[in-house]
Amino acid sequence: MNPVHDTLVIGGGIVGLSLAAALGRAGVDTALVHAVQPPLDWPPDSFDMRVYAITRASQAFLEALGAWQDIEAGGVSPFRAMEVWDAGGSGRVRFDSAELGEPYLGHIIESRVIVRALWRRLLQLPAVRREVPATVASFAEVDGLPQATLADGRALRARLLVGADGFASRVRDFAGIRARASDYGQKAIVAVVQTQEPHQETAWQRFLPTGPLAFLPLRDGRCSIVWSATSAEAECLSALDDAAFRAALGEAFGHRLGDIVETGERVLFPLRRQHAEPYVKPRVALVGDAAHVIHPLAGQGVNLGLGDAGVLAQVVADALARGRDPGLPHTLRRYERARKGEVVAMMTAMDGFKALFGSRLAPLRMARSLGLNLVDAATPVKTAIMRYAMGG
Ligand SMILES: Cc1cc2nc3c(=O)[nH]c(=O)nc-3n(C[C@H](O)[C@H](O)[C@H](O)COP(=O)(O)OP(=O)(O)OC[C@H]3O[C@@H](n4cnc5c(N)ncnc54)[C@H](O)[C@@H]3O)c2cc1C
Repeated sequence: MNPVHDTLVIGGGIVGLSLAAALGRAGVDTALVHAVQPPLDWPPDSFDMRVYAITRASQAFLEALGAWQDIEAGGVSPFRAMEVWDAGGSGRVRFDSAELGEPYLGHIIESRVIVRALWRRLLQLPAVRREVPATVASFAEVDGLPQATLADGRALRARLLVGADGFASRVRDFAGIRARASDYGQKAIVAVVQTQEPHQETAWQRFLPTGPLAFLPLRDGRCSIVWSATSAEAECLSALDDAAFRAALGEAFGHRLGDIVETGERVLFPLRRQHAEPYVKPRVALVGDAAHVIHPLAGQGVNLGLGDAGVLAQVVADALARGRDPGLPHTLRRYERARKGEVVAMMTAMDGFKALFGSRLAPLRMARSLGLNLVDAATPVKTAIMRYAMGG
């Protein structure tokens, strides 16, 4: 019979890798299965289109894992301010880290830089068995424990199976957990662009009736854009030639940083909202996008997943330290209780923003302009929002 691990993590995106690293640091006997070998090297002038706004709370977690130094060396772009304004009114709010006496609000970081640092950290942790690259052919319950059979026929069993396998989680299906999904009817265009004026280390967001448009500052002076629009509009926009796309983008952004002088490849992502109910079943837990997918307008998906990883690793390590089985329901419910409130609050806020800013009704337009200006004028409210955006 195969050895039984304490935890078996399926999926090595940022969330799965960080969970495996946190478990490994706590000495928890863990196996990680991931489909592809993480990239360790890339040409110096290349760029990963997937960039994330990482909050201060997530940074603290990555520091505790011993991965932050490597991430910093790989390149991070601090942002010191966020400016949010409304295309359909006069509302505007600016959040500046200086108002909190802090040097920055967070960092914009390429996905591959975070993945590589976490992977290198895992290589130093003997408690973590890595099955990478490998895919799971099937899941089953054997002698009351979950078992994953890999494509090459080998089987892994554990007292706790964790689904960190993204929005189409097979672990979730195996556990019979339902995910409530709704399609926003939107797609996001992601691209890297050069603006005429400097980005001022500010994350910019303009609310358009068709969806939000964000410009995130990169360390080479360019910006990474996330332009959410109705699916039909996003497809039309991404099919434009470069000159027409630059003109449309500059217009949509209200020329806040002058003209768009250069644009690179464009990638389209469908946007969805999805929430698993519950996050745990006996011997199974879900983390990251396997548990919840939110609109990228606040750039919080990875941050929520890192929060899940930190709490679940703590709950498992605590249970083992007390001689308890980490896969039992009362242990796992501690994880769910700790995470669900934050996730639901974030999902509700995103839906509220989308409904409010998507509205063409005049009273709502006035309300949101007034709302943004009021927030801008009310220091305590602004401070509270900034602390929240930094991850509490
Ligand atoms: C346009 C856009 C912009 C975004 N911007 C931000 C942002 O600025 N900040 C932010 O915090 N979030 C952002 N997000 C959200 C973020 O991308 C996700 O929340 C995050 O990637 C989820 O990470 P994860 O590790 O849970 O899942 P994933 O990244 O999906 O990783 C899961 C991994 O598991 C592997 N896998 C799946 N099944 C198996 C299997 N059976 N066997 C082996 N391996 C398997 C897959 O290969 C995959 O690599 C954005 C999303 C979009 C669409």
